[in-house]
Amino acid sequence: METNPYAWVERSLETIRRAGWYREPEAIEGSPGAVVSKDGREMLNFASNDYLGLAGDPRLMAAATHAIRTFGTGATGSRLLSGHRILHQELETAIAQLKQTEAALVFSSGYLANIGTIAAIVGKRDLILADQYNHSSLKNGAIMSSAHVSEYIHNNITDVKQQLQEHRHHYRRCLIVTDSVFSMDGDICQLPELLELADKYNCMVLVDEAHATGVFGATGAGCVEHYGCTGKPLIQIGTLSKALGSLGGYVAGSQAVIDFLRNRAPSWIYTTGLSPADTGAALAAVRIIQGEPERRDRLWQNVAHIKSLLMENLPEDFPLLPSSSPIICVQVPSIEILQTVKQQLLAAGIFVAAVRPPTVPTCRLRLTVMATHTRAQCEFVTGHLSLVTCTGDSRIAPTHLSLDQ
Ligand SMILES: *Cc1c(COP(=O)(O)O)cnc(C)c1O
Repeated sequence: METNPYAWVERSLETIRRAGWYREPEAIEGSPGAVVSKDGREMLNFASNDYLGLAGDPRLMAAATHAIRTFGTGATGSRLLSGHRILHQELETAIAQLKQTEAALVFSSGYLANIGTIAAIVGKRDLILADQYNHSSLKNGAIMSSAHVSEYIHNNITDVKQQLQEHRHHYRRCLIVTDSVFSMDGDICQLPELLELADKYNCMVLVDEAHATGVFGATGAGCVEHYGCTGKPLIQIGTLSKALGSLGGYVAGSQAVIDFLRNRAPSWIYTTGLSPADTGAALAAVRIIQGEPERRDRLWQNVAHIKSLLMENLPEDFPLLPSSSPIICVQVPSIEILQTVKQQLLAAGIFVAAVRPPTVPTCRLRLTVMATHTRAQCEFVTGHLSLVTCTGDSRIAPTHLSLDQ
């Protein structure tokens, strides 16, 4: 008999390695931005969620520093005990105002907001209808809730409708759950159609605006605003860690839903309040996204420019996946080619994400565009992408492309 009860860990790791699924973090040095330093080298950054370039904004840093000077570094307890600060209330009011909802509640991360909310509002006797491409936090929240979970075909309203017709009447409550911007594809959900079905079949709707807040809508409120669905009966979740450049998550909705979550969401009740620095930075970011719509304009100009260049120049076996957001994915035929192309781009000083099974069904390069990328930087990345996909050979280095602006 084996005597080491941890021996299985090494064996499991070996399996992960053999499958080519082993992953490790890579360190970025210094401040975030359109250009970052990695291994002492400047890299063009097309891999962050910092869509508006706010994570390195001096105003957010000043707000975080000011919050630390005023409130210290830690919240010291859960919000219901010693961890609540006036700053949390200010941030929640600002988010509710941005989202045009009665109230909002901030969590220590978007992940915790999703699992806590879903597990609080549905249970054993209820049904969750979930898009098959939903984020991991939505999937795990659904599992934690003990509700019956049924996934529908990605973005397929006909499937949602069919499932509602067949199954809705067997359950007490029903919750339709979807990402608004799908994080690994960049396409967006069909929110008006989902809301119509929800109304007809008496369902709640939870939409995860993680990649949409600050990015979509005239005031940056997200896809809900983009679709003209502001004020509709739904629960909006999002993160403070993407376009808002900080850390934390939020739920925005009716006063009753927020009051209920404060009493029933374990991932809010039994965890320490958001740190003063994160809270202060997020509050400054909410004000900037409302006050500086020109950042969103620049972001969307960059997105349009990159997409049109890629559409013109990518070879057929590297198709652009359909996207309506600053997340742009180029499908790649195999894991081996994906790794080669990613290395070639790194060698050229370009940092993009290589995403592959089991995270997604097909291999892809995933680019995230920022408002602070220059036109020259957009052209640099698309030029290199076209070259490495056309030739598959890094030795043909594109000498005519330069980062000088
Ligand atoms: C990033 C992300 C989250 C998690 O947010 P964090 O604040 O980083 O925990 C949740 N949902 C989606 C769709 C995301 O992309």
